[in-house]
Amino acid sequence: MAHTQATVNHAHLLIIGSGPAGYTAAIYAARAMLEPVMISGFQPGGQLMITTDVENYPGFENMVQGPWLMEQMRKQAEHMGTRMVSDHVTKVDLARRPFQIVCDSGATWSCDALVIATGAQARWLGLPSEQAFQGFGVSACATCDGFFFRNKEVVVVGGGNTAVEEALYLANLASKVTLIHRRDTLRSERVLQDRLFKHPKIAVRWNAEIAEICGTDAPPTVTHVRLRDTRDGTLSDLPTDGVFVAIGHSPATELFKGQLAMRDSGYIETRPGTTNTSLPGVFAAGDVTDETYRQAITAAGLGCMAALDAEKWLQAQELQRHAAE
Ligand code: FAD
Ligand code: NAP
Repeated sequence: MAHTQATVNHAHLLIIGSGPAGYTAAIYAARAMLEPVMISGFQPGGQLMITTDVENYPGFENMVQGPWLMEQMRKQAEHMGTRMVSDHVTKVDLARRPFQIVCDSGATWSCDALVIATGAQARWLGLPSEQAFQGFGVSACATCDGFFFRNKEVVVVGGGNTAVEEALYLANLASKVTLIHRRDTLRSERVLQDRLFKHPKIAVRWNAEIAEICGTDAPPTVTHVRLRDTRDGTLSDLPTDGVFVAIGHSPATELFKGQLAMRDSGYIETRPGTTNTSLPGVFAAGDVTDETYRQAITAAGLGCMAALDAEKWLQAQELQRHAAE
């Protein structure tokens, strides 16, 4: 992201986001000779860059590492002819055609068709104390920060696949892991639950939520969490050195608010069975539109659909132009 001067470039098809959805759209679009440009964003490779074992992406007998898988997708997209741009989109204007895209570097792009594959971002609890200790004992990424908690005690908040995977990962490093969940059943897959319950270093605290993260200043250090029982509101303290928040992700759709139809949950609306958004020429793929499945393989599948939908739409535009001439 080293540009300093404002530049304007044009792409026939522009893809925002470099997760499984974006890379797959790029592979298909490049093979359709659409000369796609991909703006990769602040997290090149997307969410799988912050995980380790991926054992449900088809094509591998044994599990693969998330960052390795994303590196392969990037190489394939590049090899097919995708132009990769290391930048982050800060503004879009979809009212103008070609669409206008402004990036963090100051570069401006225009494009005839747009694939939005901006995925999702970690959700936080929203506590002031969580913010105060972020980076000082509070994290949303075990694979990024787990190393700092070797032989220490940590808690993980959440009851989905991410929380359980984070707890299992952290149990390799920490002396003790406590999973804190607000209900008395997990929503994660059974196979992961089995591993969690069998792990000697992991305990589960049911029906509890974090009321406050407590610690000392200068330097900020977490010492314990104050838990609230979700059934009767009683408070109790649990000593811990670190807090990993794993309560899901929100779609990265802020850029498009007011410009595209969205569901109340903030996910981009697409016409059933397609990746067509409410605006012709704009397509959405992956976690940014899918609040049900949210898997790497479904994101990749939607990325494929977006490229095919965009190709069809661009062709129709071309035919209309020829007919009008
Ligand atoms: P993402 O992977 O979220 O990628 C979004 C991309 O958009 C990123 O490159 C980001 O930089 C870019 N972006 C965002 N905003 C902008 C912007 N303004 N400008 C430019 N670029 C932008 N799924 C599985 O199938 N198996 C697993 O084992 C698995 N493990 C997981 C473990 C963890 C810890 C997490 C968090 C998720 C896991 N998932 C797993 C889910 C899977 O990672 C997602 O479903 C998948 O990555 C979604 O792909 P995507 O391409 O839609 O978006
Ligand atoms: P998720 O499935 O949405 O689960 C979020 C969890 O956090 C839920 O248990 C929820 O509790 C809890 N939660 C939400 N808000 C909370 C709050 N404010 N306070 C306390 N707890 C809160 O999210 P995820 O686990 O990140 O998974 C996202 C998607 O990625 C899923 O589709 C998942 O399958 C996929 N994924 C897959 C894998 C894999 O296949 N191995 C790994 C990771 C993620 P409730 O249960 O009470 O709602």
